[in-house]
Amino acid sequence: MGTQKKMLIRRTSPDVSQIVRRTVQGLFFLLNLWIGTQFFFFVRGMESGNGGWGRPAGVEGWLPIAGMMNTKYFLLTGEVPGVHPAAMFLFVAFVGMSLLLRKAFCGWLCPVGAVSEQLWKLGRDTFRGNFALPKWIDIPLRGVKYLLLGFFAYAVAGMDASDLRAFLYSPYGVIADVKMLDFFRNLSVTAAIVLIVLVVASVFVRNFWCRYLCPYGALMGLVSLLSPLRIRRNEERCIDCAKCAKACPANLPVDTLVQIRSAECIGCLECVAVCPAEGALAMNAPRRREVAPWVMAAAIAVLFFGIVGFAKISGHWEGTVPEMVYRRLIPSLAEMGHP
Ligand code: SF4
Ligand code: SF4
Repeated sequence: MGTQKKMLIRRTSPDVSQIVRRTVQGLFFLLNLWIGTQFFFFVRGMESGNGGWGRPAGVEGWLPIAGMMNTKYFLLTGEVPGVHPAAMFLFVAFVGMSLLLRKAFCGWLCPVGAVSEQLWKLGRDTFRGNFALPKWIDIPLRGVKYLLLGFFAYAVAGMDASDLRAFLYSPYGVIADVKMLDFFRNLSVTAAIVLIVLVVASVFVRNFWCRYLCPYGALMGLVSLLSPLRIRRNEERCIDCAKCAKACPANLPVDTLVQIRSAECIGCLECVAVCPAEGALAMNAPRRREVAPWVMAAAIAVLFFGIVGFAKISGHWEGTVPEMVYRRLIPSLAEMGHP
């Protein structure tokens, strides 16, 4: 018995999901660029001793391990830590996003994800496609990010409140963000080679860093398994063209599944954007209610600005480390080893 070809009921309204998502992604990237610039001049000011720009607390969004530690410290003591409190608020905001909106942090906000996306799109447009690693290497490699996450989670899980406090308030803990900046300012040959390899790999393999190595993405993916949203395919409307699967940056078989529950789905809606059939594919909330792209954007904005705004209004956004401590510690950064 041959399979019957289904009739295409073409979509009438143009897709806006990618305009909405790229706008959010671009704005967040610019915000990070601005924070990075402020932080750079803050550190330069501390190094020269002449003072400089104020320290932007938002830089702590780049300290996910401090975010994890501070969250645990808060849960154990009920006290908002004085060192890198913004790391905790941002960590909670991003975990909350994953809980509600799948791994939307990766697909809509993360600047590394945004750069990664531009790299694979460059590769796709230059070489007429990307390269998918064979399953036997793809599956074990995808496990690497969970191993890295496990390593960090194990280290944090073994610390009690006094260990956490001792680490966070240690000289290394206080200027962990400056250490990170220093890593990129004084890139060693080995680190530069690793970065180049990652960039080249990202041109050929879609989201190489995110798919295989990012422990933060691994955590977001695990949390996203609890999200009520998922991509759902209507088998009656679907014409089996497989355009969605081809467009999916996570290489998910969207064209053969009814629902996407995978921890790899970054909620990017690329699959929905390319689907030609009316009502065949959508991001759905429970009871099959369709979630429009602007609703996702609005939910991301509410969560992000709501939590950051709360931290600011309640006086917990900025840490309690006095400027004189930075003035003393930053110039002696080079002598400080890793704990
Ligand atoms: S299934 Fe759709 S929303 Fe999920 S990662 Fe793939 S393209 Fe993006
Ligand atoms: S893009 Fe995917 S969901 Fe849409 S019609 Fe083609 S196979 Fe079906």
